[in-house]
Amino acid sequence: MSAPFHHVAVIGLGLLGSSVAHAVHASLPGTRVTGFDAEPTVRERARVIGMADTIADTAAQAVTGADLVVLCVPVGAMADAAHAMAPGLAPGVVISDVGSSKASVGAALAAALPGHRVIPAHPVAGTEQSGPDAGFATLFRNRWCILTPPADADPADLARMVAFWEALGARVETMDAEHHDLVLAVTSHLPHLIAYTIVGTASDLERVTQSEVIKFSAGGFRDFTRIAASDPTMWRDVFLTNRDAVLDMLGRFSRDLAELETAIRADDGATLFDHFTRTRAIRRSIIEMGQDDARPDFGRGDHVGAE
Ligand code: NAP
Repeated sequence: MSAPFHHVAVIGLGLLGSSVAHAVHASLPGTRVTGFDAEPTVRERARVIGMADTIADTAAQAVTGADLVVLCVPVGAMADAAHAMAPGLAPGVVISDVGSSKASVGAALAAALPGHRVIPAHPVAGTEQSGPDAGFATLFRNRWCILTPPADADPADLARMVAFWEALGARVETMDAEHHDLVLAVTSHLPHLIAYTIVGTASDLERVTQSEVIKFSAGGFRDFTRIAASDPTMWRDVFLTNRDAVLDMLGRFSRDLAELETAIRADDGATLFDHFTRTRAIRRSIIEMGQDDARPDFGRGDHVGAE
């Protein structure tokens, strides 16, 4: 089968951008990759590690001649990045992204690039690392990539985007942007908010010292700290751009938390036991679907990440 695209331009060369570049080189060897990052030191590092065939000094140069552009910048920077590259875009180029919230990104790209073919995407794959050295070619293997095409998207463009992500090892699902934002609010955004909260709470405690928190972290805290180490810029933007869905899920979570608090106060062991039995079954389903590792350390010694 011929490659879905011949020249892929990657804008933003951090964890996601470098992973896309490495994965294209590894899985689509005939496809040219060009890149750009707003930060000169990142561009320099990308050149040193040979991340792409060419690292350009402007976004417009990087996209010149490309038939696919993948924006890999924080969601709050998508509009600026789109405006900067616009002068270099060829007619017929497909514009996509990897942003973690989709309705706001789709709207921002449509407004910044009128008349262009925009098919937003979100590979549900990542780690808590950032920057050009954090990426690796297998990041997307066996992970889901969600495409959120606008209603008037060309089916041929959509088919090429599906083929692109499948070539990179991902499984692809298509849904509308609002539904994506609701699903990800509960599977990704709320867990990050909870992790940021609990790690903050533990570090602000007065009656338990910080060194005790760190020393005894294997009791559960440690697993939250991995998520809470995620990039502050990225996550600030996710909460600001997926505000409504996150607030909806946060309301439900707060009610459920209050119910568990009530059960603890009332010595209601049956409620606690039933709840914990239900949640254990969900973990089993995730392992059965190949979305995590059953080993006791969650397989974190390998490159297993959550977004
Ligand atoms: P990252 O490692 O911080 O990389 C983002 C890069 O984009 C940085 O080098 C940043 O430079 C650069 N940048 C910012 N504004 C730019 C602009 N206007 N033009 C060109 N480059 C610009 O972040 P990441 O984790 O790869 O995240 C990138 C995107 O992927 C985000 O939209 C995020 O929501 C999404 N995503 C992340 C994950 C994850 O687990 N991390 C998973 C799935 C999707 P500066 O550092 O100078 O700002």
